[in-house]
Parts: sequence; C-alpha cells; structure tokens
Amino acid sequence: MTDLLTATTASTVSDAPNASPATSDAHIATPLTDARAQLAEAISLLGYGDGLHRMLATPRRELTVAVPLRMDDGSQRLYTGYRVQHNFSRGPAKGGLRYAPNVDLDEVRALAMWMTWKCALLDVPYGGAKGGIAIDPREHSTAELERVTRRYTSEILPIIGPERDIPAPDIGTDEQTMAWIMDTYSVNSGYTVPGIVTGKPISLGGSQGRASATSRGVTHIALAALRHAGLDPARSTAAVQGFGKVGADAARFLAEAGVRVTAVSDQYGAVHRSGGLDIEALADHARATGSVVGFAGGEALDGAALLMQDVDLLVPAAVEGVLHDGNAGDVLARVIVEGANGPTTPAADRILRERGVLVVPDILANAGGVIVSYFEWVQANQAYWWRADEVESRLEERMLSAWQHVLGYAEARDLSLRTAATALAVERVAEAHRLRGLYP
Ligand code: NAD
Repeated sequence: MTDLLTATTASTVSDAPNASPATSDAHIATPLTDARAQLAEAISLLGYGDGLHRMLATPRRELTVAVPLRMDDGSQRLYTGYRVQHNFSRGPAKGGLRYAPNVDLDEVRALAMWMTWKCALLDVPYGGAKGGIAIDPREHSTAELERVTRRYTSEILPIIGPERDIPAPDIGTDEQTMAWIMDTYSVNSGYTVPGIVTGKPISLGGSQGRASATSRGVTHIALAALRHAGLDPARSTAAVQGFGKVGADAARFLAEAGVRVTAVSDQYGAVHRSGGLDIEALADHARATGSVVGFAGGEALDGAALLMQDVDLLVPAAVEGVLHDGNAGDVLARVIVEGANGPTTPAADRILRERGVLVVPDILANAGGVIVSYFEWVQANQAYWWRADEVESRLEERMLSAWQHVLGYAEARDLSLRTAATALAVERVAEAHRLRGLYP
C-alpha cells in the first residue's frame, strides 16, 4: 500500500507539531494550529512524551489528487481533492467529505484529527479521516457534481474501503454524493459494497435516523448542558449559526423540545424573531429560496450579530474559527454547544472559560452523526435493519453517557469540557498504540 501511495500521490508529511498553544489567534490561527494546540494541552495533562505527541500530531497517511472535470458545456476544469487518514489504531478510518471552495490540506488534516478524537471519545471502533475537494458545489449542475465525485472517488480508491476508510457527508455533500461514491467503488470492485460509505440513502442500505443524527445528538447535549447550567430548556432561548444538514434540524429539535429559537443564520445572512422563529416555516422558505434570508416570519439580522445574540444557548453549526479572540468577549450566551467542527479557537476558549461560558466541544456535541454511521455499518454487517426508534434511543444513550463521562472527568480535575474530552480521547488512542506496539 505504501508503494502504491508513493506512486500515485503528491503526499506530504506534515511539519513537527507546535507544542505551545497560541496566546492570541486573531490573524494566525488555522484549524490545524487549533487542533494541534488542543492536542498539546491534552498531551501535557496526560504527561505523554514527545515521540507519542509527534505521532498523534501527524496524519498517518495523506493523499492529494488532481480531479479534472468535464463541464456540461464541454469545457474542462481542474480541481484539487484530498483524503487524510489521521489514525487507524482503533479501527478503520472514518470521516466526512467536504465540498467547499476554501478546502485545503491543513483544514482536512485538522478535521481528520478531530475525527480520531471523536471516535475514540464515543468509543466507536474507528480511527479518524477526512476528505475534501476545493470546489463550490453551488456553481455546478447535478451532472457535473456526479462526474467530479466519481473521478475523485476513483482517484482515492486505493486507500478507501469498508475496512480501511469509510467516507460520509459533510459540508456541501449529501446522501446523493454517498450513493455516487458507493456506486463508483462497487463498479470497480465488481459487486455491491454498501459498507464503503455511511450516510447513504435508506433505499441503498442507509440507516434510519442517520440524516438527522448529528442534530439529534446536538440537541440531547444542548438540553443536558442547559440543565447543568441551571437553565430550564422550556424557558430558554437559542441562536443557531448555519442552517444546513446540522443546523436546520438542530433548530427544529430544539424548538420541539420547547427552546425558543430566536435567531438563525446561514452564509448569506440571518433572521431574528424575539418571540421565537417558526422553524418549520423557515425550513420551507430555505428549501424554496436556498437561504434563510428574506423569511417573512422574522426581521433581517447581520450574520456576524448572530453570535452576539442575548440568548441562553448558542449553537455554531457552520464552519471553523467563528469564535475567536476578537469576538469571544462579546458572546452573551451562557452555553455554547458546537454543532460545527472547530468553531471555537483556543484563545476564544480561554476567554469564554474566564467569563464562565460553558462550551461543549465538537468532538462530544456533534458525535451523533458518527455514532449512527457506526450503527449503519453494524446493520450492514449484520444484514439486519433497526427501527428508527431503536436507532434514536441507542443514540441518546451513547450521547448522554459520553456527556456524563466528560463532565465527571472535567469536574474531578477542574478542566474545561474540551480539555477533558480531548484528554479522554487521546488516552484511548494512546492505549491502543501501547497495546499494539510499534512495528517493526
Ligand atoms: P451543510 O453544507 O449542510 O450546511 C452548512 C451551513 O452553514 C449552510 O447553511 C451554510 O450556508 C452555512 N454557512 C457556511 N458558512 C457560514 C458562515 N460563515 N456563517 C453562517 N453560516 C454559514 O453542512 P453540515 O453538514 O450542516 O455541516 C456543518 C458543520 O457541522 C461543519 O462544521 C461540519 O463539519 C459539522 N458536522 C457535520 C456533520 C454531519 O453529519 N453533516 C457531523 C458532524 C459535524
């Protein structure tokens, strides 16, 4: 496999980890520096040595591929795609596939590292991976997206597989993307391989409850965190940043649980209604127009102002680095539950902790998706399907038990929930490394 990779990739080995967390991050932080700073803190807490630190800070395998695309008008474009496998000590690598114009190798490295910690923290038998193509899916027809997805899949074919690395949806991709990946992989294998992806359509072997699993998990954690902060969810208010696969359903489930969702945003703008937005009507509007902007049931709000709303709960469910040292001091929410991966920089974390804001980290809060992806994989292996209510109750049980575990660890050691969660996860991965030993 190593020879194959060397022959087919422009693979790059990352630099040494930056062991000292940045003190300020307004202009220098990237998702990768953030992820490495979080790892460095966990390593120092656990008292692990430099050798293990370097190994955990460095992806195990990286693939950069050129993805040529024939456009509908006959012209040709070239995109760059990535697949990074951060760690597979606890099982096959697992992680989403992102289509966004600004995707780069460092972002994918960070997202892959967070996947390793998430899988370890939730005790699902996977390592971490992530993929991406630097493409804006909104600029392409469905036929073009199908061609780019199939070509990318065929370029990364040597390193993926149900026992190697299993992609799933992320920003800009969905169950249709997963169906194309599954078909491309299956055609190349000569037989149908449903376990190559999770987040597939249910008619192709997807799991009940997968599409909304991340949002359900975010909601279970948000309700537990509000109660922990002494707030009654039925008398609480929330703002949700991002109205995509995670944010839209999180807003809906929070509203169903009695939380008044007063503000919601997407990349085009935000809407606000102090009495609470009608989330079903907002979702209809967003489906019809492609954005929350222009929704008649609320007033327009500046997108950046969404994070500073006077609410009890803030759910960032869009992109990385939105809470940084330039705005963390202005956050009014008492509780932040990270639907997105990496929305809070380390400097913002410190400011929020000093100000008494409870931040529930991504690797715990948004793990519902990977839990039900794991259920999808288990069901495929058993060729047996669980009912939606079975999936949902197993998801809730896993999320709340991880919440209790992280909370207990944090309180016993006076740590932030992020440091506790990262340390617990790193400890599990390090234990797998220790037991397996170093080859040769
Ligand atoms: P998506 O593409 O379905 O939706 C993204 C949403 O964010 C869109 O509404 C978009 O308009 C909005 N957005 C983008 N930039 C924004 C900005 N600067 N300000 C406000 N809104 C902005 O993606 P998704 O699957 O919902 O993923 C969102 C986040 O959740 C990502 O960080 C992703 O890695 C994370 N996540 C997703 C899953 C999953 O199962 N899909 C699981 C775990 C974590």
